[in-house]
Amino acid sequence: MTITVRFAPSPTGRIHIGNARTAILNWLFARKANGRFILRFDDTDLERSTKEYADGIATDLNWLGLKPDETYRQSERFALYDAAAGKLKSDGRLYACYETAEELDYKRKRQLARRQPPIYDRTGLNLSDEERAKLEAEGRKPHWRFKLDQRDIHWSDLVRGDVHIDTSSLSDPVLIREDGSYLYTLPSVVDDIDMGLTHIIRGEDHTTNAAVQVEIFEALGAPAPEFAHHSLLIGADGKGLSKRLGSLSIAAMREQGLEAMAVVSHGALIGTSEAIEPHTGMETLLEAFDLSKLSRAPGRFDMAELENLNARIVHQLSYAEVRDRLAALQSDGGEEFWQAVHGNVSKVHDAAEWHEIVFGDITGEIASEDRDFISQAAGLLPDEPWDDRTWKSWTGAVKDASGRKGKALFMPLRMALTGKQHGPELANLLPLIGRGRVAARLCPMPQDIVQP
Ligand code: GLU
Repeated sequence: MTITVRFAPSPTGRIHIGNARTAILNWLFARKANGRFILRFDDTDLERSTKEYADGIATDLNWLGLKPDETYRQSERFALYDAAAGKLKSDGRLYACYETAEELDYKRKRQLARRQPPIYDRTGLNLSDEERAKLEAEGRKPHWRFKLDQRDIHWSDLVRGDVHIDTSSLSDPVLIREDGSYLYTLPSVVDDIDMGLTHIIRGEDHTTNAAVQVEIFEALGAPAPEFAHHSLLIGADGKGLSKRLGSLSIAAMREQGLEAMAVVSHGALIGTSEAIEPHTGMETLLEAFDLSKLSRAPGRFDMAELENLNARIVHQLSYAEVRDRLAALQSDGGEEFWQAVHGNVSKVHDAAEWHEIVFGDITGEIASEDRDFISQAAGLLPDEPWDDRTWKSWTGAVKDASGRKGKALFMPLRMALTGKQHGPELANLLPLIGRGRVAARLCPMPQDIVQP
């Protein structure tokens, strides 16, 4: 039996870090077991689902490195759902109901007022043929409910452990709306059977659905797969993520210049017993991956932590890995440039700023009390060729001549050469900036000199 899992987004928006986490866990589970990872677009809601969102989600997954083995769209599979609905109807498990939303609301309120649980009273199930005909003659169209067995449904969840849900505590779920459209519940089960799903890994907000779906699997004559309902993410402030989902979309993260592997590392490790460490490739994440390491407590998503992981990954990237991206930013300063700056950038695109500082026509900052000192340093510049020892020998000579040392020696030089108080080792930058630009920055025009 091939281990088979799926990521089943509804393409009614782009995916965010919470959905991506579900996709990552499914992908890791499949790869670890040499199984199949299916991407299934749950797009039966034809009004809210769009091709643009589906394409965007595929792009996001691709960027994250979560390539599906197979892709399906539910909107192309209605014949299967119709056949399953037909079977359930003829078996008496799917029954027509005629209440309007207002009538149902009224019933619920009345039950609550009587301190009864607001469970659907199965009026539809008990209608006679004449009553049904009369309702239809009034112009009413039925919606269809699945008749639950009203029993204890139990499974051993790979994250949550033993789960028991008594389906007599639930209303018979509507599977088909009045306009004939399917809610997510039935098509999902039909596809899970048809695609040979062995495991369903998804958010714990679907735990109650699972009980209903177990009954539907059985009604369609198939065993239910194993379930793993992972906890949901909360923000660093302990609140749900739903309010900030736009900025937490995978597309936004990509646009902000975050590394896919930072997002994947974070998504794979949040809410697990593993430390959240940067992984630069999938292999090490796969080695560490085990569903049993997922905690039942909510995972805490922290943008600051993701940014930090990102920086740690960027610091490890080789020139070969970033060359194309630097070129696209018109900031490919060669391998020595990347080696010089990569420890000081937290995103690859930040290298563009250093590219300008190293190779551009910039003026640094010289405080007026440092002017003579800087001129003195300019006079001591050695001839080229320069290498990574030039800084040491030059500043050694400047120290002897000026009597300055430590910060008083180095900071004015750094400010004059880069305009910044912090940055990469000047020993590495100096040969890249080169004598011509260094000399120009040390002897700037009077208007560039900053007064104290
Ligand atoms: N389309 C459903 C969702 O996005 C899928 C749930 C499931 O994995 O069964 O919530």
